[in-house]
Amino acid sequence: MSTIAAIELHRLSLPLPVPYKVSNLVFRSFDPIVVAVRDRNGAQGWAETVVGPGYTDETDEEAWAFCREWAGRLLQQDTEHAKACLARHLERHSHAASVMISAIEMAEGNRYLQRREPARVPLLVPLQQQDEDGLGREVERLLAQGYATFKVKIGFDVGADLRRVGWIQQAVRGRARLRLDANQAYTVEQARAFLAELAPTDIELLEQPCDKHDWAANARVAADAPVPIMLDESIYTLADVERAAGLAGVAFVKVKINKLGGVQRLGDGLLHIGRSGLRPVLGNGVATDISCWMEAAVASHTIDTTGEMNGWLKLPESLLRNPVRVEQGAMCLPAGYWPVVDTRVLESYALESLAFAPASVAAGPVSTGPA
Ligand SMILES: [Mg+2]
Repeated sequence: MSTIAAIELHRLSLPLPVPYKVSNLVFRSFDPIVVAVRDRNGAQGWAETVVGPGYTDETDEEAWAFCREWAGRLLQQDTEHAKACLARHLERHSHAASVMISAIEMAEGNRYLQRREPARVPLLVPLQQQDEDGLGREVERLLAQGYATFKVKIGFDVGADLRRVGWIQQAVRGRARLRLDANQAYTVEQARAFLAELAPTDIELLEQPCDKHDWAANARVAADAPVPIMLDESIYTLADVERAAGLAGVAFVKVKINKLGGVQRLGDGLLHIGRSGLRPVLGNGVATDISCWMEAAVASHTIDTTGEMNGWLKLPESLLRNPVRVEQGAMCLPAGYWPVVDTRVLESYALESLAFAPASVAAGPVSTGPA
């Protein structure tokens, strides 16, 4: 336990060299909130969250307002008390409260973040090409790089989705597993039509077929699906996990650090999910390497499914001075690895930055706009 001496908040806009297309929108940039917490002994922790439309009911503005309000209140508080205060808001402000909690946990040196031995966390990679030839080349290139699990976004149009998945299956031929992600875009009828025609070859799972709030629709699809179903956007709390465990055909749940409430709850939650009979999948495809590292570190202690913490690989550059290496399709965490944020890179992408310290509790912007 320690005392919080200073907090910084940053809003960044990180342009994507290649737009990232999911069923309901196209990301042209990732716009994270980055939180830095320093304790009285000088230990610093960082965390980050992208409050993405469609993934959460929170808005970016609400999350920023929450972080501003709490950054002022948490100064001089001990870290345990600060985390307990924030945790009371996880239900309504899961991303905003989680990012604050995670930064405190990193400053505390949470044991789930520490590696005494080196670890490899295998990563999933998205297939982005749309046509048959392009997909064939992309599959060969990624297999050669050592990737063995591919994400395929569906939920655009049943016929077109089936055609594209078929091309991918022909290209893969048993050499990788496919995770198909509908991102809530199908109706029950569309999902059933898709599944009726789908050959299950090399398909590990189908993710979040229907609207996240419509548990009945997702349950109806899962009940007679020929491949295992994973729920993603529907899962926020361990109560949601329990509910998913009761549905026939649902075999996987996807969690993210900013859904479960920070490092400790994530690690404990993953172990709990494993005991519930469901297989947990972890990772955020819309994130920087600060939270992707956090998720990989927690995963290295708790689960063995291929991780989805690949958001940072879509970005123009790392936010870290000592970036994690990816070798043979896996994040490689050396023994003792601890990331150091590159404040020069951070500042170059900052839209707004605020510093909170005891002498300046009523903080104002310290920088606006890219340097
Ligand atoms: Mg998903």
